[in-house]
Parts: sequence; C-alpha cells; structure tokens
Amino acid sequence: MLAVVCHGKKDLRLDAREDRPLAPDEVRVGIAFGGICGSDLHYYHRGAVGDFAIREPMTLGHEISGIVLETGSAVTHLRAGQKAALDPARPCLSCRHCREGRANLCANMFFLGSAGRFPHVQGGFAEHLVLRQDQIIPVPDDTDLLKLSVAEPLSVALHAVNRAGALLGKRVVITGSGPIGLLTARAARWAGAAEVVCTDVEDAPLAVARDKMGASHTVNVVADPEGLARYEADGGFFDVAFEVSGAASALQSLFKVLRRGGRIVQVGMLPPGMAPVPVNVLQSREFEFIGAFRANDEFRLAVDLIVRGEFDVTPILSGTVPLERAGEALERAGDRKQVVKLHIAIGGDRS
Ligand SMILES: [Zn+2]
Ligand SMILES: [Zn+2]
Repeated sequence: MLAVVCHGKKDLRLDAREDRPLAPDEVRVGIAFGGICGSDLHYYHRGAVGDFAIREPMTLGHEISGIVLETGSAVTHLRAGQKAALDPARPCLSCRHCREGRANLCANMFFLGSAGRFPHVQGGFAEHLVLRQDQIIPVPDDTDLLKLSVAEPLSVALHAVNRAGALLGKRVVITGSGPIGLLTARAARWAGAAEVVCTDVEDAPLAVARDKMGASHTVNVVADPEGLARYEADGGFFDVAFEVSGAASALQSLFKVLRRGGRIVQVGMLPPGMAPVPVNVLQSREFEFIGAFRANDEFRLAVDLIVRGEFDVTPILSGTVPLERAGEALERAGDRKQVVKLHIAIGGDRS
C-alpha cells in the first residue's frame, strides 16, 4: 500500500509500505480522504512543526475518514465495509489526565502524523492504516466521507469554544481565518455568540468568514491596520477572544480590544520560544489567558454535527487532489488566496 511520506524538508515521496498484522483490539481501515493541515505544511516546507523536527521518514496526515477493512479478534462492534470517522488521537486512557477526562493532555499520546515523539507516529495519508478500535466511529452508509474528514479540525474548533466557556450573547473576536479560525467562527455562533469579528491578512478567507461562516464583521489587518482599534473604545469591546493565527502581533492586539474580565483562548501555535504579552494589563483588568490544544470528546460531537447535517463544513472545502499528486497538493495547499483547505483523495468515494 502507498503512503505520503515526508523524508525531511521539501522531500516528499509516495512510498510503498507493508501492512502489519492486527492486535486483538485493532482495526485496519482504508483511507478515503485526508485534509491537509497547517502542521503537514510545516513538516513539508520546514521539516519541523514548532520544536518537533522530522528525524526519520514520517507519513503525514491526521484529518482522515475511511472504511473498515478488517477487525482484530476482540473487536465486536465494527464490521468490514462500514464507513467511519477516524480519531487521530490515541491516548493511553490510564494516566491522570486521561482519567480526569482530559485525554488531549495525555502524557503518553500517540497522535497520527506527529514527530512529537520518537519513533514518530506515522500518519493517515496512506491507503491503509491500523487504529485502536476506540478511534473508529462508524457512521451511516450515506455519509459524505469528504465532509466527514473535517471532523478533526471541527473538533479543535469545538474544543476551543468549550475552553471559552458560555458564549450565549457574547461578543467574540477571532484572529486568524484559516480553517480552524473559520470553523471556530461558525462554532461560536452555534454556541450562541451574538457577534463574531474575524481578522486575517488575506481578503479571500475573510470573504468566506463573512459570507458563509457567520462572521458579523471582518478586518484585514494589513489593508486596514487600524481596523481593530475601533474596538478599543470604552475599555474594550469583546468578551472573548480566540487567537488562532499563531502570530505574536495578533495576540498582542487582543489585549487592547478585550473588555475587563475577558478571556483569551490561545488556539494557534506561535513560533518556538517566547512571545511578549502585557502582563500588567492582564493583571489589572483580570484577563484570563488560557490554552486550547487539539480536542477531547468534541471529536464525537463534530462527527454527529457533520453526519446530521447541522454543521455545514462545505465552505472550507477547496477541492481534492489524487494521491499520486500529493506533492502538488502540498504545494498548492499553502496558497491562501485560492485555498482554504485542500484534501488528498486517497481511496476517494464520497457517496
Ligand atoms: Zn489538523
Ligand atoms: Zn493518558
């Protein structure tokens, strides 16, 4: 079977890999679609994500959907041929964090396509993949597998919204309108936010935010550098901020537009090292500054919302590229003027 393997910076190959036997609690799946994430792009362009560098060949990909091919001897609730959502997180289920219901913080996590540990965890841009049975959520036969592959980024947005607390009637600002920022905008609206303002450095994703993802207003911080400043009046406008861009300047701008007692949720990953924040402002205005990392049970919620058609993810879909042209897909995926999220069609079949 074939896999999209990153051998280092700008060195992407379609490698043949062996299938391995299943443990009793494991399941072999055929991958249908794989969404290209910012982390995949970082591995491809720089050979690293944050502090995690590629030290051995690693299959990319963690935003996947597929079909059950074969089940281990102890698996009773799945059968070959079933369509399924595939959770890229395999937490240990026994550490203190897992037992507290915060498995995203697991001390012994295996997350698909991540160089955070060594040997690296091989990813999901592959024809076949072996997962633990609890990573597989069967869905009805008429589910669109392309939309379903958005369950993972949607779960990240839903987790960020959960970290923000109750949003009913709140004013929300989101810095960064990539796929996660756009999904967070729609998720914040779904959670009851009265007003959602999105920012970015490109017009194209802001148009999607405004027209399709529930943003009430948008600001291009390059074309209109003072655009956010109008929200500084009266000591700050927003109740909640989501920093999704991963830019230190965006983070800093939020300390001026948040009302006293407001909360900043850091979703984006900044460049390695330190980022300055105005701590005295945080102290005197009782801001809360908290992190949001991946997702927990929000993955199941994301699957439910997509399957039931209650959360339309189509505005972020920018098309598919066949597996054989994965390199071209990774080159194109970073063009934010044309692309929100590009998918690799591995096994394909949307119906
Ligand atoms: Zn992702
Ligand atoms: Zn754990």
